[in-house]
Amino acid sequence: MAKQIPRLLQKIGLRPTTFVQRYNSTGHRNGYNFELNETQKELQELARKFTREEIIPLAPEYDKTGKYPWDLVKKAHSLGLMNGHIPQELGGLGLSVFDGCLIIEEIGYGCTGIATAIEGTSLGQTPILIAGNKEQQKKYLGRLLDEPLMAAYCVTEPGAGSDVSGLKTRAEKKGDEYILNGQKMWITGGGIANWYFLLARTNPDPKCPAGKAFTGFIVERDWPGVTPGRKEINMGQRASDTRGITFEDVRIPKENVLVGEGAGFKIAMETFDKTRPPVAACAVGLAQRCLDEAAKYSLERKAFGTRIANHQAVAFMLADMAIGIETGRLAWMKSAWETDRGIRNSYAASIAKCHASDMANRCASDAVQIFGGNGYNTDYPVEKLLRDAKLFQIYEGTSQIQRLIVSRAILDKAKA
Ligand SMILES: Cc1cc2nc3c(=O)[nH]c(=O)nc-3n(C[C@H](O)[C@H](O)[C@H](O)COP(=O)(O)OP(=O)(O)OC[C@H]3O[C@@H](n4cnc5c(N)ncnc54)[C@H](O)[C@@H]3O)c2cc1C
Repeated sequence: MAKQIPRLLQKIGLRPTTFVQRYNSTGHRNGYNFELNETQKELQELARKFTREEIIPLAPEYDKTGKYPWDLVKKAHSLGLMNGHIPQELGGLGLSVFDGCLIIEEIGYGCTGIATAIEGTSLGQTPILIAGNKEQQKKYLGRLLDEPLMAAYCVTEPGAGSDVSGLKTRAEKKGDEYILNGQKMWITGGGIANWYFLLARTNPDPKCPAGKAFTGFIVERDWPGVTPGRKEINMGQRASDTRGITFEDVRIPKENVLVGEGAGFKIAMETFDKTRPPVAACAVGLAQRCLDEAAKYSLERKAFGTRIANHQAVAFMLADMAIGIETGRLAWMKSAWETDRGIRNSYAASIAKCHASDMANRCASDAVQIFGGNGYNTDYPVEKLLRDAKLFQIYEGTSQIQRLIVSRAILDKAKA
């Protein structure tokens, strides 16, 4: 095959020697490659074993009680299934976004509520990973490795979610400090985090563009004036801790500003390039669980004298689930691969997140359908999957916002 390629290249006027040299020196595997390396296979296997043995048996109980799964978080921490992306020089594993996605897809298969409880800390850490200076990284990321402590991402407010530029929380500079006042809402890990990445308005002029008006801060949970509210009772992913938080005259030292005043909006948005691929991977994990449960059930349940799998309408639902899952997995892989190589991936990350979220919802709804009346009942696993799936279309940017990002990119290209 390698020998035939130069002839083909000559035909279309390309220089074959360069191609063959490149082909031989790098090996074609550095091009398209659908194989995981040995380390990735081991990570995936570890996460799979942890999920099957530890998460799946406990997931229904955490869903029912809404209790925070500290035991599982501590275990995930001790196994190295959390904080993997913290750089090696700080004592972390220095894993890629791609490797993190492999882990979270497995955990999402077991329970996306527990996955969000475990992975929510990454959302809080990513702004510090991408924009923190050495001291900030050492102080705040380092402590997460020493103990199973969590971080959280505080951007959304009661009055502004999709429209981040509408945030009202204010930080006013007074000497060497900033005084923070405001309220955040829907913060994953809000009640259990040790520290928060927080976005606040530092320029009061309403005409100031978002790219200059907001500043990113690291705020410690224990500082006076920080008050998390009650744990919210949500439709799904109930093991995860979601809360509002009030900030009243909180004094933030200037050392806790990320990059500099006015740089926060960009940091908060760039974070999603690294965190949307894992959200997509987690949704794919849930969808895979829907397919596995539904396929198994379709071979057990009989109707009209035959297994329901033999009814084409049921079998085609399974086929559609598989089609969505395979393409969803490829989409998270591409978006993670891009960011790991320093390629701007906002477009691919939004495609991956939107596709996986919508697809997971279709899979969960079809899984309930295949289970019939049993699917609607809490004694069977699929009604939880449907409740859990919904959140993927809401957090880290709704499906509408992902379409906005994708459509803007298409139209910008068309105009250029
Ligand atoms: C369980 C949970 C956990 C969360 N965790 C976090 C967290 O850790 N940190 C954090 O900061 N936030 C978090 N969020 C908040 C989440 O990111 C927001 O809820 C989300 O971005 C939507 O914002 P909103 O709720 O204000 O809805 P809105 O922005 O009010 O949107 C309402 C509806 O209008 C649509 N819409 C809005 N603008 C447009 C537009 N321009 N074009 C088309 N449609 C539009 C939306 O898609 C949506 O359907 C969490 C939310 C939940 C429910």
